[in-house]
This record gives sequence, structure tokens and C-alpha cells, in this order.
Amino acid sequence: MDIRKTALITGGSRGIGKAIAIRLAEKGNNIVFSYVSNEEAAQKTLEEIKSKGVKVLAFKADVSSYDECQKLIDTTVKEMGSIDILVNNAGIIRDNLIMRMKEEEFDEVIRVNLKGVFNCIKHVSKIMLKQKSGRIINISSIIGLIGNIGQINYAAAKAGLHGITKSAAKELASRGITVNAIAPGFIESDMTNTLADKYKEAIIKAIPLGRIGKAKEVADLVCFLASEEASYITGQIICVDGGMAMGSI
Ligand code: NAP
Repeated sequence: MDIRKTALITGGSRGIGKAIAIRLAEKGNNIVFSYVSNEEAAQKTLEEIKSKGVKVLAFKADVSSYDECQKLIDTTVKEMGSIDILVNNAGIIRDNLIMRMKEEEFDEVIRVNLKGVFNCIKHVSKIMLKQKSGRIINISSIIGLIGNIGQINYAAAKAGLHGITKSAAKELASRGITVNAIAPGFIESDMTNTLADKYKEAIIKAIPLGRIGKAKEVADLVCFLASEEASYITGQIICVDGGMAMGSI
């Protein structure tokens, strides 16, 4: 009998999500990951995870669509038999100063980064409540705690995600389901690689540990929160940020 657990990672084809999918596969979990448009990256990640010897499925689904999330979750259960771990990782940025930010830029970030998490939790909770177990891990950001110039949309979505995390943790606790959020600081990925070197240098100066974080460092905490050892932790927002959110004074 296959006693492997199944982990579903949204936006698992690149960056932090990919590192999470790979680490969870290395721990012996079967993997389903979603992506939205980059087929080539998804295929590459699929092959990499296959080589770990677990079952893996890549599924194209926009998390901002309620119906596509329903299909993603239905397909996961049909193909893998269960969903034990949900990692809400998919996220985007559309940075701009308040004065210049377009309504669409605000709405799109809220739709993907906040409503997308509601969509997945809504559909997955039905399955986890029935099986009386589950781990939900939301990838937030320290920007949801400290704010940032040019990111009013992103900060609002990530702060909202902290509210979702705590509310869902309280609602689902009685059925043995834990819900936590990880708030990364500045992590190497496609999302941050586009930033100008001058801006990156300024950020590094604000990080007490003096360096940019690695996606694997976020993935390692996901693995811990998904493990038996973390069964008494719920409703928490844990920073993986080299101390950045503490501030410099
Ligand atoms: P990334 O490298 O840009 O990768 C984003 C992933 O999300 C890709 O797999 C992408 O799929 C997928 N995605 C984007 N929009 C989607 C949608 N509407 N539906 C489904 N999937 C979608 O991003 P990252 O830097 O790894 O960030 C991952 C998460 O960490 C995000 O929630 C981000 O806010 C958070 N975070 C990142 C940092 C950082 O420094 N990088 C810091 C704090 C928090 P495609 O490949 O198809 O586009």
C-alpha cells in the first residue's frame, strides 16, 4: 500500500514554489504543483521531481479562478487519492507608487495573492475536514508585516493573508488541521532577479544577516511545518528573512 502523503503546491513550477515542491518530494511526498502560463518551466520541474522517485503531476490553473482551483483540487484527489499538505505559494507583484498605481494593478494582486488563497483553502478544507487531518501553509511576505513603498497592493494582500491564516487556523483546528504562514524576506527568485543591483544592495544593508535568502531556506521551514514534529503549531506567521522585519534600530 502506498503510504506516501500528497502535497499540493500552487505556483510550484518556479522560484520558491519549485524549491518547496522539490524538498517535499525529497521527503517522500507525492507532489501536485500548479502553474499559470510557463509550460517550459513546468515541464522542467516535472522531470526534476520525477527523478526523486515520487508520483508527480503538473496542472495548469489560475489560482484567481474559483472554478480552476476546484478542478485543480478535484484532479489532485482523483490522481493521488488525498491532499495532506496544501502550500499556497502562487503570487505576483505589480509594483507602483500609490499615485501611479492603476486600479487593475491593485485588483490583480489582490485576486491572485489573496483571493487565490481563499479559493484553494475553501476547496481543500472540505477534503481535510473529512479526513480529519491536514496541513495548510501560506507563503506570505514580511511586506505584509512592515509595508513597503510601491507595494500597497502586495502589502494589503499579504497582510490579508495573515488574517486568513489565523481565522482558518481557529476554524479548522478541531479537526486536526493546522494553518500557518511563512513570511519570507528577500529571497533569490525570478520575482527578485528583475530588481536593479543598486536596489538589491540597499536591501542587503537592511538585512541583519547581510545576505539575500535562498528558496531552499523557505522550503526547509515548509517541510518542518508539514511534519509530525510541528503538530502543535497553528495560526503562526513565521519570518524567514535574515532578521529584516526586526528593523535596523
Ligand atoms: P516567482 O519566481 O515569480 O514564481 C511564481 C510562481 O507562481 C510561478 O510558478 C508562476 O507560474 C506561479 N503563478 C503566478 N501567478 C499565478 C496564478 N495566477 N495562478 C497560479 N500560479 C501562478 O515567485 P517567487 O519569488 O518564487 O514567489 C513565490 C511566493 O513567495 C509568492 O507568493 C511571493 O509573494 C512570496 N515571496 C517571495 C519573496 C521573494 O523575495 N522572492 C519574498 C517574500 C514572499 P508560471 O511559471 O506559469 O508563471
